[in-house]
Amino acid sequence: MSKFSDYNFKDQKALVRVDFNVPLDDQFKITDDNRMKASMPSIQKILKDGGSVILMSHFGRPKDGPLDKYSLKHLVGHLQELLGAGTKVLFANDSIGDDAINKSKNLKPGEVLLLENLRFYKEEEKGDEGFAEKLGKLGDVYVNDAFGTAHRAHASTAIVAKFFPADKKMFGLLMEKEVESAERILHKAEKPFLAIIGGAKVSDKILIIENLLDKATDIIIGGGMAYTFFKAEGGKIGNSLCEEDRLDTALDLIKKAEEKNVCIHLPADSIIADKFDADAEVSGSLSNNIPDSWMGLDIGQMATESFCRVISNSKTILWNGPMGVFEWDKFQHGTKAIALAIADATKNGAFSLVGGGDSVAAVNKFQLADKVSFVSTGGGAMLEYFEGKVLPGIAAIQS
Ligand code: AMP
Repeated sequence: MSKFSDYNFKDQKALVRVDFNVPLDDQFKITDDNRMKASMPSIQKILKDGGSVILMSHFGRPKDGPLDKYSLKHLVGHLQELLGAGTKVLFANDSIGDDAINKSKNLKPGEVLLLENLRFYKEEEKGDEGFAEKLGKLGDVYVNDAFGTAHRAHASTAIVAKFFPADKKMFGLLMEKEVESAERILHKAEKPFLAIIGGAKVSDKILIIENLLDKATDIIIGGGMAYTFFKAEGGKIGNSLCEEDRLDTALDLIKKAEEKNVCIHLPADSIIADKFDADAEVSGSLSNNIPDSWMGLDIGQMATESFCRVISNSKTILWNGPMGVFEWDKFQHGTKAIALAIADATKNGAFSLVGGGDSVAAVNKFQLADKVSFVSTGGGAMLEYFEGKVLPGIAAIQS
């Protein structure tokens, strides 16, 4: 593979896989263009070098072929605005057909061509080789800048890379940063390495916890999933979230952590509520002695203080999943305190990565996204990376 920033794109047609899966309102207006904006640095670098750009992306979930509402044509105007009037932006009304072939053939340095939604072809998600080969023929060099789909072996995210020699395939700037940050956590973590895992369900996080048991010094387990651990250890958890079929898994994880000398931290106390409601009546309780009909919806004061101490002693911090129902003000304190402590630790030299939908939403809610080392945009992909899986989109470039 080549390194994007070292590569000179002069007179090259770069086939760039981006993630332009942005939300639209009923008037086809983009309501959040962060994903498009995030691709701009890679696009601009190629254009500045004197290359041209062929953009390909999926958009929504069309089930049976082309559908106007899922056409990427709705994004052309905004793409033009982001790139500025000096850059000619073209649109091809298919991904591999005559229009795509002709427009890409005639594309001049400094121009950008956006292909129609890849998922209008069933072959895309099937990872069809023939389809990928046709895509590959459109460009001289392949750039993957869509980390969010790197865990899928789709034609445009992985298979297409086969049709480019090693020096003509690479990660874009966005994806390179994601991969470097995740690798730093997984393989080069300075100790003490703390993983903070929260959110609703143990079942969603078992693989990530298991994989981190071989790497982390400490693991904090918060959020709804903590109560399955308390119940497994014989505690009273009232109506708190519990996955009865995961009690053994929880005990097994605790045992494995002991064997591997990893310190598991559970929240000693909780903020409890009399119902699952933003305006519920609130009280405090030990997490293993919650009264019947009450439920833990946030970590308590003692837990917060103790977690913050662990955070301030750590040199590498991975955070995935909130400590409580942070969407509701009454139950946001634990998550907010953790986010602030991570920001503080980062200021004092720790490397911190926040990944996974809801913890990203939390750092954004508390306006701390620029106070941590890296916020990953790849929810599912990042989770699978930390589970220790090989991501097809990464392997395809690296091989
Ligand atoms: P996840 O997608 O598994 O990371 O879970 C995130 C969701 O878990 C958020 O929407 C939180 O509101 C929810 N959550 C966190 N803590 C609790 C809790 N103690 N009880 C119920 N839901 C929770």
